[in-house]
Amino acid sequence: MKKLILRPGREKSVKLHHPWLFSGAVSMLESDAVPGEIVGVFSAKNEFLGQGFVNPESNLILHFLSFDSSKIDDAFFENRFDQAIAWRKEKMHWHQTNLMRLIYSEADYLPGLIVDQYADYLVFQISSVGMEKRRDWIIEQLKKLKPKGIYERSDSQVRSQEGLELRCQPVLGVMPDRIEVLENGMKFWVNLQQGQKTGFFIDQRDSRKMVLDWTRNAKVLNAFSYSGAFSVAAGLGGAKYVISLDSSEAALNLAQKNWELNGLENSKHQVWQADAFEALRELKEKKEKFDFIILDPPAFVKQRSSLEDAARGYKDINLQAMQILEPGGFLLSSSCSQHMDRFLFQKIVHDASVDAQRSLQYLKFLGAGMDHPIASQHPEGEYLKSLFCRVL
Ligand code: SAH
Repeated sequence: MKKLILRPGREKSVKLHHPWLFSGAVSMLESDAVPGEIVGVFSAKNEFLGQGFVNPESNLILHFLSFDSSKIDDAFFENRFDQAIAWRKEKMHWHQTNLMRLIYSEADYLPGLIVDQYADYLVFQISSVGMEKRRDWIIEQLKKLKPKGIYERSDSQVRSQEGLELRCQPVLGVMPDRIEVLENGMKFWVNLQQGQKTGFFIDQRDSRKMVLDWTRNAKVLNAFSYSGAFSVAAGLGGAKYVISLDSSEAALNLAQKNWELNGLENSKHQVWQADAFEALRELKEKKEKFDFIILDPPAFVKQRSSLEDAARGYKDINLQAMQILEPGGFLLSSSCSQHMDRFLFQKIVHDASVDAQRSLQYLKFLGAGMDHPIASQHPEGEYLKSLFCRVL
């Protein structure tokens, strides 16, 4: 096995089993190591520390696979694969649900591989060159789960940093334009080929359940609604009416179809294509009030450097929302920006309440559902934070 040697004093994060290694920590990598090869990592004192996928062309130069000297072969990967899938398939109740993340990259110790189940279909995404080299093997493993179809959605931006082209294509079966999935009894249409992420925001399951449980008789505004998953939850939860607000026409068309798919009354759902920042101000001018507002914007912070701008964006929409909530109304506010931690997010929501001159009762802190675990050594994996509160 080829060697990678760290600079003196740079072994600390490796000894804490952080799954990433950046090129700045490296003093020597054997020159003929190729992208995706498995190399051994050694301290400056030549102490063996672990092994992983190397990519000499990337700033994220190595994804660790293990911190011991286990043999990394097909059996090693098969074991990790089976472990990830087994606890989700065998321990979880899947109550009226056929939608689940089965493999989640670093959190399942398979860096650069995501596998999602959508009813009888599987979608996978590869984002590391090491997994790219094992693509055929991955497809064979997925076939063992006997899906009706397998679709590849390798279109994450991380691929370009790894020197990989984007690739989206069916690899097994014929992909229908859209498929119907079930989550906690709610039905959704998902477009696996063009939908956001791998087709749907599977990660918001717990928050959707919360909306289902707390929207009785509520006037609901679902801002950044995408395909209206939260709107359906509110509709089935007994909302008086729901507005799905999004800038994308295609997303809103699907939101309307999802509403109808659940047998909900058309008169209780309104779609509104607009910029949410402007729409919230317009609602305030019109003196419209809501009992429940959902804010689930796209990641405002793509880079650490834009954190301040993003903080302003989050504060603005939260402030605007609080100003159009009835006293005692509910706010479910999310941030999926990886660079913003939950404490900063909570502070921003609190600051918004001070400006709005409203008090908050925090009811629940939420994050991605449990099929999206976070490895304790990889806090960067905690990207989704949601705050559910009453605004007094
Ligand atoms: N809540 C959704 C996911 C939201 S994804 C769910 O649970 O499925 C973010 C959405 O925000 C996308 O649909 C995108 O079209 C929309 N969006 C992005 N910028 C926007 C803006 N300025 N105003 C309104 N919608 C916006």
